[in-house]
Amino acid sequence: MSSSRTQVPPISLRGDVDIPQLGFGVFQVPPGDTAQVVTRAFETGYRHIDTASAYANEAGVGEALRAADLPREEVFITTKCFNDDHGYDEATKALSTSLARLGLDFVDLYLIHWPVPSRDRYVDTWKAFVELRAQGLIRAIGVSNFQAPHLERVIEATGVVPAVNQVELHPRLQQPELRREHEELGIVTEAWSPLAQGQVLEDPVIARIAEAHGKTPGQAVIRWHLQIGNVVIPKSVTPERIEQNFDVFDFELSEPEMGAIEQLDVGERIGPDPDTFVAP
Ligand code: NDP
Repeated sequence: MSSSRTQVPPISLRGDVDIPQLGFGVFQVPPGDTAQVVTRAFETGYRHIDTASAYANEAGVGEALRAADLPREEVFITTKCFNDDHGYDEATKALSTSLARLGLDFVDLYLIHWPVPSRDRYVDTWKAFVELRAQGLIRAIGVSNFQAPHLERVIEATGVVPAVNQVELHPRLQQPELRREHEELGIVTEAWSPLAQGQVLEDPVIARIAEAHGKTPGQAVIRWHLQIGNVVIPKSVTPERIEQNFDVFDFELSEPEMGAIEQLDVGERIGPDPDTFVAP
């Protein structure tokens, strides 16, 4: 098992709040298994958990948090406001419901899960986020699945720049333009489906690089994310993989290896298109 003393590098969110660069995602972790799986993650050393109201497992995250009994300042909890909770009052209520499920007084990061441009309410949702942060219910506010025009619109409307944009990002979809936009605006890029849900792990280039370091393909891909500066939140319910995905701080990919992975970008999504996605 990896040492719980492993130091995951922190990344500063707008100079204000630190987020551990490697976290643990719980999308598709069955609600009834979540407490046990997250407990395993805490035992391994993860201190950053990424959930969402839409995952229906916030209560399990809360249960694991209480069982772990870690100092509150040592854990970083992200949750998200879903598509039917857009709007000022709706988002305010959604946060309160998520906090109750998690059993927390505040979350470290709250994200607008999808922009849902066809409903055009994300600016009001963002205004609520700004107020909820001022009230101390959220430490850092961000968005997810926002394209450049959505980012620019919330910034123009409020003057408040999202701390994070959590987007689909893996070797087959590297999002170079959006990452450049984030860098210009001072937004941290967070990668969801960082392993492309397993679909990049059989790529021969990744396999060769992993083998050269005596690591698994999953570890090589997580290392690539860390080295390009992403916050990365792999998910697993498998104990060995939970540990393996955390054991990524004792090797480094070379420049040619990073370059070889850069060549794998084909711009292909495995998830929905943010411009059109409304709800499941
Ligand atoms: P990932 O890219 O993290 O892949 C998870 C899959 O890969 C699971 O099937 C897991 O299997 C398998 N896996 C994990 N580690 C390894 C390994 N070392 N070797 C081989 N296979 C492995 O996909 P997710 O879609 O779960 O994305 C991660 C997180 O991102 C989510 O949990 C969620 O928190 C967030 N997310 C956010 C979205 C958004 O819209 N904001 C959308 C989607 C995800 P198993 O579990 O069986 O071990």
